[in-house]
This record gives sequence, structure tokens and C-alpha cells, in this order.
Amino acid sequence: MDNGDFRAGFVAVVGRPNVGKSTLINALVGTKVSIVTPRPQTTRHRILGIRNEPVAQMVFVDTPGLHTEARKAMNRLMNRAADAAIADAELLLFVSEANRWTADDERALQRVRAAGCPVIGVLNKIDKVHPREELLRVIAAMNERFAFAEVVPVSARRHDNLDRLAEVVRRYLPESAPLFPADALSDRSESFRAGEVIREKLTLALRQEVPYGLTVQVERFERAEDRVTVAALVLVERESQKGIVVGKGGALLKRAGRAARLELCEQYGVPVHVDLWVKVRENWADSEEQLMRLGYE
Ligand code: GDP
Ligand code: MG
Repeated sequence: MDNGDFRAGFVAVVGRPNVGKSTLINALVGTKVSIVTPRPQTTRHRILGIRNEPVAQMVFVDTPGLHTEARKAMNRLMNRAADAAIADAELLLFVSEANRWTADDERALQRVRAAGCPVIGVLNKIDKVHPREELLRVIAAMNERFAFAEVVPVSARRHDNLDRLAEVVRRYLPESAPLFPADALSDRSESFRAGEVIREKLTLALRQEVPYGLTVQVERFERAEDRVTVAALVLVERESQKGIVVGKGGALLKRAGRAARLELCEQYGVPVHVDLWVKVRENWADSEEQLMRLGYE
């Protein structure tokens, strides 16, 4: 088959937690395929975000931040997902924050060094760098750390310089026919993504401790022409967490459910009904079998 000049490939997006990997992928894809919170380790799954251009298809692989502590089954699965993404990729985007470099960035970069494909250094959050001339120094410092194919400064949140990044990515992709249908944005189902939006809203509403012990399982997802219904189980690990997630008089759960409903409403363009209930399932994060059932690979 003659592909003309079409290019396509997998692009793994790696870096320590919280540098803006998921935000960057959502911005490049043009829709929310991966949830975003200010808390590290929000991304738990390997999620694809697909950017379709007239002459190229970029399949971005969002990876969970790499865990040094592999005690829990969930952390082991997350590390495996990140390593698999690196091994399968034609190109890596190594993301860090333009305004700081930490020991965790250094550790994440170590894992990239062994990869056999080109690595593009993405300096995100340039909106936090002042004055602007400081950027030149930051770019030079980045080039000292590793033989990046290119270093591209961006702001994922402000959609700053993303066209330039896409142009660089295009250049490094192999010639290939599209890997997914041209209207695909993600490999994840709508039902899965709805569950993730609910988890995002709960994580934003909760304090530090609980989010790591919380997962969302969509039990029912019905899409009619004029309305969408989502019924989901919120699983926590302990009875004490249940009270916190429900909140006083059910207030927290209601608030998170409402925020999820509004966002899904906007996404689907029809009224959405969200039904949530909380259940204790002890040690769900410790059992690989339970995790498989919850959609972790
Ligand atoms: P991940 O853990 O690497 O996937 O990071 P997220 O995409 O979840 O983002 C972590 C935090 O950084 C969130 O609060 C984002 O809103 C924020 N963030 C992402 N990109 C930018 C950016 O370009 N500028 C600023 N100021 N914040 C950003
Ligand atoms: Mg993320």
C-alpha cells in the first residue's frame, strides 16, 4: 500500500509525576483523554491520546509517573505500564518543568537513557519562567543533561508553542499508514473515561490521604439520544475513608458528582445523570486480580 507521505507512530510521554504530561496530551489531542489534578500520581493507567492531522497521526501514550516503591500491586502494574510504553514507542517526549529540576526528574531521565529511540525534551510550564530571557539558560541546561534530539519549551496549560512541538514530533515519526481510525481520540471507552472524570472530581474534592485508596468502577453507562446515564461505584479501602468520601450529609459526594455531571454534560452536549455510591472493598490496590477487573492492565 502506498502511504504517500503519511506518518504515524507511538509517542510515549514520560517524566516525574506532576510535570504536566496529561495536560500536554489533552492539549495536543484537543480534548480531555486523561484526567488532571494538582496531586502527583493521578494517572494510573496507560492511556492513548490520538492527534489526527491531515498528514500525520500521533498516538501519545500517557504513562503513570514511575514509582520507586513497588510494594503494592497497583504500583507494580503502573511501573510495568510505563516501561512497556517506553519500549513500544517510536519517539519519547521527556517532560519536565521549565522552572525547576529535581532529583525525581533526574531519576526519571535515567530510565529514558536506555531507550533506543529519539528523545525530545519538553520544558513545560514556561508561563512560570520570568523574565523570558531566563528560558535560554534553562534550554541550555537541559541540553547539558542528555543528548535530546530537540528541546522544546511549551506551556501546556496556555497552549503556548504546541504547534512547534507537533511539528517536531511529526518530523521524527516514521512513514506509516494511520494506526487508528482518523476519528479516534483515545483507545479507552466513553464509559471508562466517564469513570475517570468522576475520579478526578473526587480527588479534587478530597484531602491528601484518600485519593490513593480510591477507585471508580462504572456499573452502568447508557447513552440515549437526549441523555446519558452513568452509575458508578466508588471503592475505598477502609470504613474510615467511606465517611470522608461521603462527607457531612453526603455533601462531598454530591459536590463531586455535580462537578462530574457538568463536565460530562458539556462533553456530550446532552443532559447527564450521575449516580454514585460508596463501598468498602478492602485492599483493592493490593490484589492484581481485582485491579484487572477495574481496568488496570
Ligand atoms: P502529570 O502528573 O505529569 O500528568 O501532570 P498533570 O497534567 O496532572 O498536571 C499537574 C499539574 O500541573 C496540574 O495542576 C496542571 O494544571 C498543572 N500544569 C500543567 N501544565 C501546566 C502549564 O503549562 N503551566 C502551569 N502553570 N501549570 C500547568
Ligand atoms: Mg498524569
